[in-house]
Amino acid sequence: MDRPAIPAPPKDWKPEAKKCNHDFVFLYSDFSREAGTYNDSYEQRDTFFCRYCLEYKTVIARQENSRTRPPWYRG
Ligand SMILES: [Zn+2]
Repeated sequence: MDRPAIPAPPKDWKPEAKKCNHDFVFLYSDFSREAGTYNDSYEQRDTFFCRYCLEYKTVIARQENSRTRPPWYRG
């Protein structure tokens, strides 16, 4: 899967700022599948970045145990 490039920080970006009022912007989703005995485990992890300090965070957006591929699963 192609990942979008990380956008440049805004013009008012201050890297020396100690405190950041994070404003997280969605960047991409990662999908993974783990085979199980009866069900496979499907997972979607979304990655966001803060447009001010460029800090990253990844959260588990969806998780499902299923014998068939869930409709939201891409990968
Ligand atoms: Zn931030």
